[in-house]
Amino acid sequence: MTTEKFILPPKPDGDSAPYWEYLRKHQAHLQKCSKCGRLRFPPYPSCPYCGTFGGEWTPISTRCKLYSWTVIQHPVDPRLAAEVPFIVALVELEEGVHIIGRLLGIEPDKLKGDMPVKVRYDDIDDAFTLINFEPAA
Ligand SMILES: [Zn+2]
Repeated sequence: MTTEKFILPPKPDGDSAPYWEYLRKHQAHLQKCSKCGRLRFPPYPSCPYCGTFGGEWTPISTRCKLYSWTVIQHPVDPRLAAEVPFIVALVELEEGVHIIGRLLGIEPDKLKGDMPVKVRYDDIDDAFTLINFEPAA
């Protein structure tokens, strides 16, 4: 993964700032509805299932499975040219929530649906950490 300055850095807002703050500490947390108890991603001001505002940030499992993916063959930015092909994965957490990130440490032709993957934290600059994935041992 590139160590160059991130191309389009995230812009945390009131809803997503805790998400980024936890990632910076290499911890994965998602919002949990205080009424129905469901987790949600990406961060929203209210629960998409019951409409309740707010909720608590709760730690999530770092064990997940590969739900779907795409292999990026053409770099959208010249700084990514050395990294293609790379994999963008949609993974399913043990809690049932789907989150997206890059899948590293495996060649695209080795991918299989439902394969176990785990979270990894990639510091992209002095302020931001991304959640990505790698095959589980
Ligand atoms: Zn809810």
